[in-house]
Amino acid sequence: MKGLCILGATGSIGVSTLDVVGRHPNLYKVVALTANHNIAALFEQCLAHRPQVVVVVNESKAAEFKQQLHGTAIADIRVLSGPAALAEVATLDEVDSVMAAIVGAAGLLPTLAAAKAGKTVLLANKEALVMSGDLFMQAVAESGAQLLPIDSEHNAIFQCMPAGYQTGKPATTARRILLTASGGPFRCLPLEQLPLVTPAQAVAHPNWDMGKKISVDSATMMNKGLEMIEACLLFNMKPEQIQVVIHPQSVIHSMVDYIDGTVLAQMGNPDMRIPIAHALASPDRFESGAEPLNIFNVRQMDFEEPDLQRFPCLRLAYRAIGAGGIMPTVLNAANEIAVEAFLNDTIRFTDIPIIIERCMDATQPTSASHLELILQADQQARVLAKQAIALLT
Ligand code: NAD
Ligand code: MG
Repeated sequence: MKGLCILGATGSIGVSTLDVVGRHPNLYKVVALTANHNIAALFEQCLAHRPQVVVVVNESKAAEFKQQLHGTAIADIRVLSGPAALAEVATLDEVDSVMAAIVGAAGLLPTLAAAKAGKTVLLANKEALVMSGDLFMQAVAESGAQLLPIDSEHNAIFQCMPAGYQTGKPATTARRILLTASGGPFRCLPLEQLPLVTPAQAVAHPNWDMGKKISVDSATMMNKGLEMIEACLLFNMKPEQIQVVIHPQSVIHSMVDYIDGTVLAQMGNPDMRIPIAHALASPDRFESGAEPLNIFNVRQMDFEEPDLQRFPCLRLAYRAIGAGGIMPTVLNAANEIAVEAFLNDTIRFTDIPIIIERCMDATQPTSASHLELILQADQQARVLAKQAIALLT
């Protein structure tokens, strides 16, 4: 039995993870669950999975949750609160594997703590990796932690890598990664209509059902930009070795191009339980609950080059990794603030890349060699992004 901690249990990835582990109660024991403030969902999860400890980051919600547990069959669950408790539960002795499924920079410290503690880290929280880059990969290498990608594309790439491949190591026989993207809901929308799209339209992804922030990122293709940086770090490749490919059907989840001309692709239905089950069962396999792929329903598969005029966020991501240092941290932080402002109806969809670019223009790509420097750059970029938003509105 392996002990599992799920950071961000109440989100889209967290719920899918519990669905998968619920199918394998003899292999995984849920030790810890965390939520930001959704205690109603957390309560149901606690009833079904009986963790030892939970974190409700919001303190008043945590107090309310303790009240709710009182007198129930699950009254013995320990309830912690505050952001520092996330790292505490992610590094418990009883925890072998940590699903990093918090959205955004809030996931960095507990995910890094899990990596430093040598846990098996199942990484969905791409923002944590993008903002901390080499520092995160060094922590993994030094502690001997196992880092397994959950992002469907990176999990696909990992599955297409040579047998025994470990993340972070170079794969000399693989020359290129073909990173697929659906192109999101606005791939074919006339360009002049882009400034008018609403948050509701942006979060309605054609193929995947996901949290709001990643859905907006998919619509701007910043998601692919973050994933390109994620792929460079996870697979020890240069940005020019990552080719983004628009593949609207989302049947192929990415490909690896080898030096002999072989191209390996991983296929499946767009269901996150597939990469989650792959990582949880690794190096074995077990059932995920996903429907088998009906190949006859796949009438056609299209592949296009991305249009950087339509998707400036992708260009900005290449610029950020090219500049190096703290620039990916700035890209990520400015994007988080801009996406939040778009979701709150404060800025237009097309303002998102404008805000991010202004923050990047105003920043020098200084060193990201220490955690303090990264956290400082993250905070500064958030301030800059808010200033840029205020100037626009
Ligand atoms: P979501 O919004 O559905 O869930 C986010 C989770 O994080 C929730 O449990 C929430 O309580 C928690 N959270 C949010 N803010 C927090 C904070 N400040 N402190 C502590 N906890 C906080 O998001 P999601 O779609 O599940 O995505 C989670 C991560 O996985 C993201 O980084 C996303 O990019 C990545 N990812 C998601 C998918 C997907 O299909 N949903 C696919 C690939 C990668
Ligand atoms: Mg993805």
